[in-house]
Amino acid sequence: MANCNDSSKQILQIAIPVPLDRLFDYWPPEQHDPQTIKPGMRVTVPFGKSTKTGIVMGIADTGASSVDPKRLKRAERILDSEPLLSAGDLRLLQWASRYYHHPLGEVIATAFPVALRQGKPAVLQREMCYTLTIQGRQTGLEQLKRAPKQQALLELFHNRPDPIPLCELSEHKAALKALLEKGWLREQTRRNTPADATGIRAALLANTEQQYAIDSVVSGLGRFSVSLLQGVTGSGKTEVYMQIIAEALRRGLQVLVLLPEITLTPQLEQHFRQRFSVAIVCFHSKLNDNQRLSAWLNMQQGNAAIMLGTRSALFTPLQQPGLIILDEEHDTSFKQQEGFRFSARDVAIARAKMLNIPVLLGSATPSLESLFNVARRRYQLLPLSARAGNAVEPLFQILDIRNKPLQSGLSEPLVRLIQTTLAQGHQVLLFLNRRGFAPVQICHGCGWVSRCGRCDANMVIHAGERRLRCHHCGSEQALPKHCPACKTGELQPLGLGTERIEQTLTELFPGQHIIRLDRDTTQRKGSLETYLEQINSGQADIILGTQMLAKGHHFPDVTLVAILDIDSGLFSVDFHAAEKLAQMIVQVAGRAGRADKRGRVVLQTRQPQHPMLTTLIEKGYQAFADIALHERKQAGLPPYSHQALFRVHATDAQAPQEFLQAVCLLIQKLNHDRIQVLGPVSAPMARRAGQFRFQLLLQSPQRKELHHLLDSLLPKLVKLKQARNIRWSLDVDPADLY
Ligand code: ADP
Ligand code: ZN
Ligand code: ZN
Repeated sequence: MANCNDSSKQILQIAIPVPLDRLFDYWPPEQHDPQTIKPGMRVTVPFGKSTKTGIVMGIADTGASSVDPKRLKRAERILDSEPLLSAGDLRLLQWASRYYHHPLGEVIATAFPVALRQGKPAVLQREMCYTLTIQGRQTGLEQLKRAPKQQALLELFHNRPDPIPLCELSEHKAALKALLEKGWLREQTRRNTPADATGIRAALLANTEQQYAIDSVVSGLGRFSVSLLQGVTGSGKTEVYMQIIAEALRRGLQVLVLLPEITLTPQLEQHFRQRFSVAIVCFHSKLNDNQRLSAWLNMQQGNAAIMLGTRSALFTPLQQPGLIILDEEHDTSFKQQEGFRFSARDVAIARAKMLNIPVLLGSATPSLESLFNVARRRYQLLPLSARAGNAVEPLFQILDIRNKPLQSGLSEPLVRLIQTTLAQGHQVLLFLNRRGFAPVQICHGCGWVSRCGRCDANMVIHAGERRLRCHHCGSEQALPKHCPACKTGELQPLGLGTERIEQTLTELFPGQHIIRLDRDTTQRKGSLETYLEQINSGQADIILGTQMLAKGHHFPDVTLVAILDIDSGLFSVDFHAAEKLAQMIVQVAGRAGRADKRGRVVLQTRQPQHPMLTTLIEKGYQAFADIALHERKQAGLPPYSHQALFRVHATDAQAPQEFLQAVCLLIQKLNHDRIQVLGPVSAPMARRAGQFRFQLLLQSPQRKELHHLLDSLLPKLVKLKQARNIRWSLDVDPADLY
């Protein structure tokens, strides 16, 4: 019989980032005392023909292994002297792996920055910081008016009480050198302790609702709770976050702040840096591997007090966890759409529960799930009903464009409104969620259309580059000059994209500064920032863009917002569409008239009586949400039920359906009566990038039952012979059905 304490007989149970839902047993590395190995340490192991970096989940007696000890391989090297993930972190990841039915090794990999996944050492590089000398502090900005770059840098230092690390100064290299030579700045190594929580800019005097929200979250510090801060754009949510964070910092706690979009982080970061003098780190995909490693380690070791990040920042280990804030909680970017398809919002709540800390969700347009949870008294609602300061609510107007002449999608009344607004010296914002020149090219002679050869989709005209491009698979080709089918017919653009509207606007409003913001115009690094700067400094007259505009950016001089085409969103096959459209309308509207100028929001539609639109506009988002929730209830849809979606694709047209039919048979045998099985049906886009796509939706009013079924079903799927020629994925709580 094996002796449990005999360390020479102990094996390591290791999670490895491979798509297999199990742990792998290894002997500890040679000459490594197993007693010093703890769960949460990284380890390199031979795996197949390669070496992989895994994480130790447990140390067990050989008897615990199902593998013959003689056949067990030896781990190569333990990479860490202390665990990188705590027992609590591991528990959360195990929970997430079970909940999303995704292999633990891959789930754990998500928790690490790339450098650690690759096995790089978990050490903080000593990073150089810069700070003002006394001389620099006394130097006025006007002394540098001939050197605007140096002036800007000096101003940055004047506005920031804390040393600034080199990584934040990468765009100021030359100016930095110059100021160092002048003796106005000096170099020092990073200060490694969180400083006091007070910054240079004091908190605003909170209004009654803000104060209520602040008090209620602050009084709940140290306990699990979920609060939903619901306030229109400009109602002062950021101020509420900051005052709550200030209190958490005073208690020595760390705060994790999650945002849906990278582009929103600089703005919030700036607010935070002006308010707090603690170490603040950012974590998102625009940062390089070293920056992310250092941000992660600084939170893990307790050097930094605030982390501002996107979805992937959620799993960062915290030394003194205090609070998690999710801003724009309704945004589906919080749901990962490939691989480990977790919802950062839902996992944040699970994490907070395990850590016994509060979560604060914020939005002007909360998700129906969150409003449902408020109604069920699981979340506390903290309303901010008015705009902070002087700003007033925008005025909504439906523009019925049936039978109206349109000039590239712009109706005459809209053109007149744009003219008046520009004449008043205000800015105009136009929203169209379709980039490119036109969504399709058509032959006037024979009706040929520019279909993608690999997708059930059209190739979009990009006139500037003279190309046709598929937005689903990336295929592209030169814009044909002659119809590929009849060779003679005239080719015409059909429909509207932002590029085309930009052209029309240039013709209609000569001399006006027009800025187009979409994925095509903002690809270059720094271009979005430049455009935002031009908008905020008042240089831009007309701003035209896609959903990029709907998110968080504040344009105080915009007084007219027009949504050019909402009709396409009214008739989607996906039940989530109405919710998303309503959120989009309210969010875009929120960009208007933030300062003392009243904004006007115009919706062009051929469905002026559509109940969703009229409710939203006449009664507001909450009324819309109440009705939408009622409809979901009647239809038994989430949040009144729970879903899991199998997506399958294959190069063979039949294979996906055959696989899903086999899955259905298995489900029948497992005999879970309260599970609805919908499908298999072909995906809304039946072919994409040459792959045929099918899906199967499982739905149950009881989450537990659905998960029990998945638990017993999934291990059987790998064994299906129909699984050989297809690829499948499972999406628990899908955010869309595409
Ligand atoms: P949100 O995050 O809800 O969009 P912000 O927090 O950015 O709103 O606030 C919008 C504007 O109102 C900001 O300029 C902010 O400084 C101002 N503001 C917020 N709270 C107050 C307050 N209590 N008193 C005066 N101004 C406020
Ligand atoms: Zn033709
Ligand atoms: Zn395609």
